[in-house]
Amino acid sequence: APGRDDILVVDGVSKRFGGRVALDAASLTVARGSITGVIGPNGSGKSTLFNIVAGALKPDGGAVRINGRDTTRHSPAQICREGVGRTFQISRLFAEMTVLENLVAIAHGKSDVQAVERARELLDFLEITALRDRWGSELSYGQRKLVEIARALMLEPTLMLLDEPFAGINPRLQNRIVEHLDTLRRDGLTLFFIDHEMRIVLEVCDELYVLAEGRVIARGDPEAVRADPAVAEAYF
Ligand code: ADP
Ligand code: MG
Repeated sequence: APGRDDILVVDGVSKRFGGRVALDAASLTVARGSITGVIGPNGSGKSTLFNIVAGALKPDGGAVRINGRDTTRHSPAQICREGVGRTFQISRLFAEMTVLENLVAIAHGKSDVQAVERARELLDFLEITALRDRWGSELSYGQRKLVEIARALMLEPTLMLLDEPFAGINPRLQNRIVEHLDTLRRDGLTLFFIDHEMRIVLEVCDELYVLAEGRVIARGDPEAVRADPAVAEAYF
């Protein structure tokens, strides 16, 4: 739409693994300040899309632009410096570090004092200060999800990619995460997340994309997307 300010543009991105097509000319945009969601069945290319945006994978075709700059061939570190943070579908916390150490370890650019200060603020904001001195290996699955979010926020991203932040956790914790994401968005963060459950996506997203077999089959207002017969057919 005219006047729309997109922080992220994915333009016709394709990716194959051997003979398997993971993404097939997928295009989408994320408006600055929005909460944008991607849903799709398992294997539809969601994580591959994130890995390409974050620079962890290079596409076979198409382009990625962040803040209007072509980042298609940029390294993950360059994309991180561009202001993109991410959480992983499978936790990447260090088992043999405490939660606080896990957060401080990621903040290379900051002094230790600043990093510890920032980590404390984030633990407080996410209501997980009680976990500060626990080992990574001691955390429950749901606790890991929260610590992963805190860790991604350490670098003060302007765009955050969240790969299934709600998967496998109880509805109460899901609702807490929704509230935190809402607060972050009100503070100016753009959120782009993957999920496979409709409930949260409908509740949270401004705009929703549906992937099926590597293609974007629907986009728009979440309620309209849910009502789309093509989505029902591909997804349910
Ligand atoms: P989703 O996150 O939607 O479940 P993925 O992006 O993980 O889907 O995977 C999309 C397709 O690409 C799947 O068929 C998957 O098996 C395949 N795929 C993903 N990553 C790899 C890889 N590193 N090597 C081979 N195939 C892969
Ligand atoms: Mg995935």
